Amino acid sequence: MNKRTALITGASSGIGAATARQLAELGFGLMLGARREARLEEIAADVQSRGARVFSRALDVTVGASVTSFVKEAQNAFGRIDVLVNNAGLARGVTRIADQTSDDEWQEMLDTNVLGLLRVTRLVVPIMIEQGFGHVVNLGSTAGHDAYAGGSVYCATKFGVRAITSALRQELLGHPIRVTSVDPGMVETDFSVVRYSGDKDKADAVYSGVTPLTAEDVADVIAFAVTRKAHVDLDTIVMRPVQQGPYGQLARA
Ligand code: NAP
Repeated sequence: MNKRTALITGASSGIGAATARQLAELGFGLMLGARREARLEEIAADVQSRGARVFSRALDVTVGASVTSFVKEAQNAFGRIDVLVNNAGLARGVTRIADQTSDDEWQEMLDTNVLGLLRVTRLVVPIMIEQGFGHVVNLGSTAGHDAYAGGSVYCATKFGVRAITSALRQELLGHPIRVTSVDPGMVETDFSVVRYSGDKDKADAVYSGVTPLTAEDVADVIAFAVTRKAHVDLDTIVMRPVQQGPYGQLARA
């Protein structure tokens, strides 16, 4: 396990950063990317202090050239990419379809969550095939199982991730490459702050009366999935807080 390496997109906060910390403790070499370089450097320093070898640099998954140079440099740094955690993603707003006056939020979500994930995956999978081992972990969501009003396009992106994960698993059948989807419900990270454009009160209200999942809870599951024996492929892992039911139902205290 000590020679294993993992590339994590969106490692500057939340689930990506927590996964980096957990995989560092397990002895993985880490390739970390996100747009906010200062935050990324803080995470890189933290995981380095846990004894991990780290490559980190700016990555914007919506820009093809950024993805190409990131993957190339990451591979050069370690010589192999054993695990890819496709975590970079976001939601913008809760506007209902008929009230949406601009395409901008829709485009940003589709470009980041769907096309961004594809841009990284298409460059990393051939490396995994060539080295004869790999594990792709996609961050889906319960929003990829049940849609909700005001979440049409975010949900569409996560339904899309579920379709891509399923197709990829079929495309890689016969190769020693595992494909896992980790699909969490409500996780308290910067996700809602980003969704509400920095409005912390609105973001906090999302979690009021609920004990949400933490980024560490999700990272636990990712770490478990990537440390199974090589022939074991955890397929789709749906996880929610106890107070969250399907279709966004919440039992708030
Ligand atoms: P978060 O704390 O806001 O983290 C999102 C990460 O994605 C950040 O590191 C951000 O970094 C990165 N990112 C966004 N756009 C990017 C881009 N264009 N290029 C590269 N990196 C980009 O939220 P989180 O909750 O950890 O979200 C991580 C993943 O989990 C997402 O895919 C999200 O959809 C999924 N998820 C979250 C929840 C939840 O309730 N929180 C539930 C289910 C699934 P920069 O801004 O520095 O680029």
